[in-house]
Amino acid sequence: MKLLYWFSLILFTAHSTNSQQSVDQLINPELPSLLEMYRFLHANPEISYQEERTSAFIAKELRSLGFEVTERVGKYAEPHRISYGVVGIMKNGNGPTVLVRTDLDALPLEERTGLQYASKLRTKNDEGEEVSVMHACGHDIHMTSFIGTARILTKLKNRWHGTLIMIGQPSEERGAGARAMLNDNLYTRFGRPDYVLALHDNASLEAGKIGLCEGYALASVTSVNITVYGVGGHGAYPQTTKDPIVLASQIVLALQTIVSRENSPLDPAVVTVGAIHGGTKHNIIPDEVQMKLTVRAYKEEVRKHILSSINRICDGIAQAANVPADRMPVVKVDETEFTPSTYNNPELTHRLTATFESVLGKENVVKLDPVMGGEDFGIFSIDNTIPLCIFWLGAVDPLKIEKSKKDGTPLPSLHSSQFAPMSEPTIRTGIKTMTSAVLELMKSRDERILRDSFGE
Ligand SMILES: [Zn+2]
Ligand SMILES: [Zn+2]
Repeated sequence: MKLLYWFSLILFTAHSTNSQQSVDQLINPELPSLLEMYRFLHANPEISYQEERTSAFIAKELRSLGFEVTERVGKYAEPHRISYGVVGIMKNGNGPTVLVRTDLDALPLEERTGLQYASKLRTKNDEGEEVSVMHACGHDIHMTSFIGTARILTKLKNRWHGTLIMIGQPSEERGAGARAMLNDNLYTRFGRPDYVLALHDNASLEAGKIGLCEGYALASVTSVNITVYGVGGHGAYPQTTKDPIVLASQIVLALQTIVSRENSPLDPAVVTVGAIHGGTKHNIIPDEVQMKLTVRAYKEEVRKHILSSINRICDGIAQAANVPADRMPVVKVDETEFTPSTYNNPELTHRLTATFESVLGKENVVKLDPVMGGEDFGIFSIDNTIPLCIFWLGAVDPLKIEKSKKDGTPLPSLHSSQFAPMSEPTIRTGIKTMTSAVLELMKSRDERILRDSFGE
């Protein structure tokens, strides 16, 4: 028995090293055309809700690899919008169904990277204003890694079994695309996955490295609009008015006590008032003030508590000021752009950590803290009933990180007009990790039997 164990261990180790070599060997010849694709996607970005050409590009690439492709998948809450979701299916015998997602959209931002292939494009936003467009969140890196992964997996069909679903998701930056695709019966039309995977580039992690975060990884994002009504009048006679600017100021400060006084310090949460607008002139007390808030939390009960507290505080402050009953503040939660928190299934995250360590070396796989940023990717887990994992892909030149640590030079963050990922090692690592993640989850039966034989 012992002998058999060691024999299979040697066989397995040799096999997995060879496998990795073959993934590397398969990536090398693809890289020049993929880097060219990256530069093209980078120079041709489209903002959320407008990903028509980008989605057609991804659909064409998947189709050329033999995927069964459906375009324009998705239904937004606003019926006039077209959803540019792409679904590519590759069936390869019996086995699990794995979904790999890339996002497609860019941001309304003027690029200031100075790169040769920098975007110079301009477009019209929802309000009809002309805006610049830039892939400042690295979704072009995601798409290139995604196509690279699809190319390698189609060449390695003898190494995996099951159904691979590769989707291009629109409008991530508006928190609307994932929900739109599910609203269009994504899982009933194309199959419910057993695992859901994505990667996101990271603006403070070295290219060549991968970061994982187990459990809650990104926060839920809730946009809240508040209108504080008053009774306007002359600035010199405040006694004849109900001043909404004073009320709004009290509300802003009171809102800060929700997280600090009502919420457990062990449950992360943020309430930020990001916009406040009211009034026109020095000596006029206006009739109303508008406020825009973002609320972040991991746990749903924390989010619900914060939202009910916002209502209670607004009402309480208006009542204390004796605002007429028909002029009470109105609090509206913008449900169309709400995204739940992203929870990385711990078991799946452990499994992928081990896979990435064997592929990249332990030193290149780091554990990262959760962030209060948001993503709509978590929606694909259907309330965490499907194991999901999104991992961070290092995108920064290691020399720049070293310099930043030494002299404090700030690194451009995601959504910065100067964010310029180090394309080659980042895309290579993106393909290597996503390919190995899919192979791990869909590996051939003989490999599974081999692993089972030594108790994994
Ligand atoms: Zn973003
Ligand atoms: Zn992003």
